[in-house]
Amino acid sequence: MTKRSYRPATTLVHAGQVRSNFAENAEALFLTSGFVYDDAEQAEATFKGEVSHYQYSRFGNPTVSMLEARLAAIEGAEACRATATGMAAVHAAMLSHLKAGDRVVASRALFGSCHWIVSTLLPRYGIETVFVDGGDLTGWADALARKTALVLLETPSNPMLDIIDLRAVCELAHAAGAIVVVDNVFATPLLQRPLEFGADVVVYSATKHMDGQGRVLGGAVLGRKDWIETTLQPFTRNTGPAMSPFNAWVILKGLETMALRVAQSCRSAATIADYLAGQPAIERVLYPFRADHPQAALARAQMSEGGTLVTFALKGGQPAAFRFMNALGLVVISNNLGDSKSMMTHPATTTHSKIAPADRAVLGITEGIIRFSVGLEDVADLIDDLDGALRAVG
Ligand SMILES: *Cc1c(COP(=O)(O)O)cnc(C)c1O
Repeated sequence: MTKRSYRPATTLVHAGQVRSNFAENAEALFLTSGFVYDDAEQAEATFKGEVSHYQYSRFGNPTVSMLEARLAAIEGAEACRATATGMAAVHAAMLSHLKAGDRVVASRALFGSCHWIVSTLLPRYGIETVFVDGGDLTGWADALARKTALVLLETPSNPMLDIIDLRAVCELAHAAGAIVVVDNVFATPLLQRPLEFGADVVVYSATKHMDGQGRVLGGAVLGRKDWIETTLQPFTRNTGPAMSPFNAWVILKGLETMALRVAQSCRSAATIADYLAGQPAIERVLYPFRADHPQAALARAQMSEGGTLVTFALKGGQPAAFRFMNALGLVVISNNLGDSKSMMTHPATTTHSKIAPADRAVLGITEGIIRFSVGLEDVADLIDDLDGALRAVG
């Protein structure tokens, strides 16, 4: 792409493409683990860093590089490194930056494996970790009154769609000496760009909206060039969470339709949230852009749409939730999200079942809570399906 800056939908189709000498139109898939040198001198110069040449796909690969450049462009970040999964991205972003004796402050409402890294893995390496309620700025200020190395947060959060004030937390974190890592999976770079609010690093599971069709796993870490090259890259090169070129190619093609897909899913999610809010069997609906969301104003200040997920509570707890989900004919039961196929999950018995019931209660994940990832089906068919399942609950 030329140096001109294009709007997001255009960037997602073109940014980062490098054509080979065959002048292919679609991005090429370089399914190769290694690369060859013209002569021994070129190999030596490459390893000395004197010339730029691909060496080995654990370090870099042309298809993966195209994805990294496209993701950096859509995020407005200086640099990006793709990883095998979203969790590899979170793990590498944290472990590459941290050392024994450091302190980490994190929002409590995190994706399950992120929570495990903070609560279980980091303390094993002598890193102190503290959880705070994401919406409680006094709690953030108290936790960040001491020197801290890194803040990890997720907004909107999984599954309760809590919103965290990015600007306020970034200011507190920077005053404590910390970098801020934002897990931006639920928002996607189309709806929220944390770097603009002061975040230092953004991490993604590309498995979700970026692939968007439920095919491959992938992840990405984005941030400043100096941090990516001097902190993250030595860690990823040597520990090996590299993304497969095949997965990078699938995700590149996924990105080309991401603006269309996310826009449609957001429209349907907003319609479905309003529909559910009017049903007597529903106790409450959480959708960031609905006026009854406790942080609707903050959501509108930092996101451009309410997102592709709707969380709701059925009256009657787990039995009602199970009867409802089992009566669905179109929407599938699956713990994945950000797919063209609509999916529902019951967090208390699946994604969040390993969290102690008391801690689940603190997070608001009651037995009647269902998380709905809204896909690309006709919204009228989705509402018909919900309607039928609600009648089955009685
Ligand atoms: C899925 C997800 C992850 C982990 O990504 P994987 O690709 O499954 O490893 C991390 N954070 C959030 C918010 C997610 O939804």
